[in-house]
Amino acid sequence: MNLILLGPPGAGKGTQAQRLTERFGIAQISTGDMLRAEVKSGSPIGLQAKAIMERGDLVPDAIITAMLAARVAKPDCARGFILDGFPRTVPQAEALDLMLREKGIALDHVIELKVDDAALVERISGRFSCAACGAGYHDRFKRPKQEGVCDACGGREFTRRADDRAETVAARLAAYHRQTAPLLPYYAAQGKLRAVDGMADIDEVSRQIAAILRPPPLDAAAGAV
Ligand code: AMP
Repeated sequence: MNLILLGPPGAGKGTQAQRLTERFGIAQISTGDMLRAEVKSGSPIGLQAKAIMERGDLVPDAIITAMLAARVAKPDCARGFILDGFPRTVPQAEALDLMLREKGIALDHVIELKVDDAALVERISGRFSCAACGAGYHDRFKRPKQEGVCDACGGREFTRRADDRAETVAARLAAYHRQTAPLLPYYAAQGKLRAVDGMADIDEVSRQIAAILRPPPLDAAAGAV
């Protein structure tokens, strides 16, 4: 199964991608996580991307597309993948279509997480994650069960993303509306776009996604008509 999760920053793509990975054993590909790893390691890509990311702008398509192509070729993607944060522009989507066509891979669904802009600033500015394993938390919506201790690995150090500050969030939202929102009609035209209510709580969003991935049996659907 190959999926794209589409939505503005803070919509919950990473959280849902993590759950889908655990449930279906398919690879989560987050271009944001990949870029943060490049920045951390001080690689040439990281050096180029750092200032762009801190401003809340998008990294050039050519860099991202090459990075994605290398990632999709890895063995853990053989059973499928969830793209979280890619594509973010129409040229990236076109490059992905070409890449998948050449490999004979079908894209199953593009799932949009619909969220109000007003809610996003609060969601994003409260985010933090475990410095050891990357598990995600939130000041209001998802605190560790034991204060100061990661539920997943027991780590006691947490970090906040440099681009989650309120000033940068506004630029990231603007980039979403200007450059990424045009992907909605792009995938609707391919008949692949499905939407879920990203304002619902995390479990409800997971249920809505599961309903898209596992449609009711044909006879049940016929009975409902
Ligand atoms: P994310 O973790 O998905 O919110 O991404 C963090 C930042 O990484 C974004 O604000 C962009 O600067 C950069 N980035 C991540 N994915 C992409 C992409 N597909 N195209 C361009 N820039 C990206």
